[in-house]
Amino acid sequence: MSRPTDLTGMTAVAMADALADGQITSVELTQAHLDRIERLNPALNAFLLVDAVGALATAADVDARRAAGEDLPRLAGVPIAVKDIACTQGLATTAGSKMLEHFVPPYDATIVTRLKDAGLPILGKTNMDEFAMGSSTEHSAFGPTHNPWDLERIPGGSGGGSSAAVAAYLAPLAIGSDTGGSIRQPASVTGTVGAKPTYGGISRYGVIALASSLDQIGPCARNVADAALLHEVLGGHDPMDSTSIDAPVPPIVAACDTRDLTGVKIGVVKEVGEDGFQAGVLTRFHEALGHLRDLGAEIVEVSCPHFVYAMPAYYLILPSEASSNLARYDAMRYGLRVDPGGSPSAEQVMAASRDAGFGEEVKRRIILGTYALSSGYYDAYYGQAQKVRTLIAGDLAAAFEQVDVLVSPTTPTTAFKIGEKIDDPMAMYLNDLTTIPANMAGIPGMSIPSGVAEEDGLPVGIQILAPAMADDRMYAVGAALEARLAQAQGGPVLDHAPEIEVKA
Ligand code: GLN
Repeated sequence: MSRPTDLTGMTAVAMADALADGQITSVELTQAHLDRIERLNPALNAFLLVDAVGALATAADVDARRAAGEDLPRLAGVPIAVKDIACTQGLATTAGSKMLEHFVPPYDATIVTRLKDAGLPILGKTNMDEFAMGSSTEHSAFGPTHNPWDLERIPGGSGGGSSAAVAAYLAPLAIGSDTGGSIRQPASVTGTVGAKPTYGGISRYGVIALASSLDQIGPCARNVADAALLHEVLGGHDPMDSTSIDAPVPPIVAACDTRDLTGVKIGVVKEVGEDGFQAGVLTRFHEALGHLRDLGAEIVEVSCPHFVYAMPAYYLILPSEASSNLARYDAMRYGLRVDPGGSPSAEQVMAASRDAGFGEEVKRRIILGTYALSSGYYDAYYGQAQKVRTLIAGDLAAAFEQVDVLVSPTTPTTAFKIGEKIDDPMAMYLNDLTTIPANMAGIPGMSIPSGVAEEDGLPVGIQILAPAMADDRMYAVGAALEARLAQAQGGPVLDHAPEIEVKA
């Protein structure tokens, strides 16, 4: 995307400043985004639902309060997009599934309440792989989202809608959810920033569950400082979520002023290797390591011998938890109900509804999960995978004894073509090779753009992992590297992609 010249081209920080200074109003800013959504969303399919009335009402309210001299939160008036996995009172919340196509939640997720309390107009709900299962948004029941850098390519998944919206300047900020990489991988392939906090760092109350021991909510943005501001709005203890950490959010906004990494030790995991990584991705990664060295950091090779087992263990743990979480879609209480005809039993209604309501990938994982949890196989599959998970967490803990953060490419390749991997689940799963370990260990991870690959001109992301509760350290390294890359490239990497062509 080339940067738009109107209000939508600003950073969220600049928008917040311009609002605070009275240079622009939130209604103007929100309307500019709504106009851009109207023009470009038909080509992108990033938004499943646009709430112009609600967004403008919040904007007008913020403008009135500001005019009355009220002291407002920093992001008040800056619009945002929300992944369609978070419940929004009165607004359809589908999780990308036919099962919930007509589900209108009676309450807000805590993160949505926090956005409202902070005065961010909610532009709408973004597209995603069904129940957040996928790496391309092609598993959405409502059609794929297209990557703004090349409309024939995927924007990543499961949160492709949020990342595409941010990359295409349809929204300065968005919410994502990350169970195995669904914030970081879409960020990587759309040239945006995405962060998954420490497990428990942001409330999941009212967020549709995929795999509860792995799921986290996090910010999507176009730069690290914008992501940090949003992270601080979302973060902090929530008594409604039993996994929510009862401690202050680490000072991540302040960490974004870091420009010098002298004395910081940065680890590269030996076992990640270079096999299966696209040449242009590796070039950008090695270049980023050079920049980190120039900033004063020391690059150290570390060993995480069980890292390579993270993906197979994840594909037992995730389906097991998902099969249990998705058992609630029983066609009795809410969601789709299909009448199979005759005088059906409850089981027959359930079967017909699940058959019609769930897509292929969701069915695949439910079957896998129920199998892995079945008595007789539980120890061999689920139990074994949990042991592997403990070993991975141990590897990471040992690595963080030696280094402050770990870095890797976020994804093995740049954005692939729509349709290329849809029939090959293994190829699809391999996209999350480097992102999954963070979810397994509950540690924070983020992806920031590190330029484009020479062979295809598409964005490449670099991932930064930090120990649990050290989210601020991750932001510090991200902000320093981002500033250095911008200096080296003469401007943010995002500004280089071609403008989307809108067919008349
Ligand atoms: N792509 C991964 C999967 O399909 C991650 C999903 C996610 O983080 N929600 O499971």
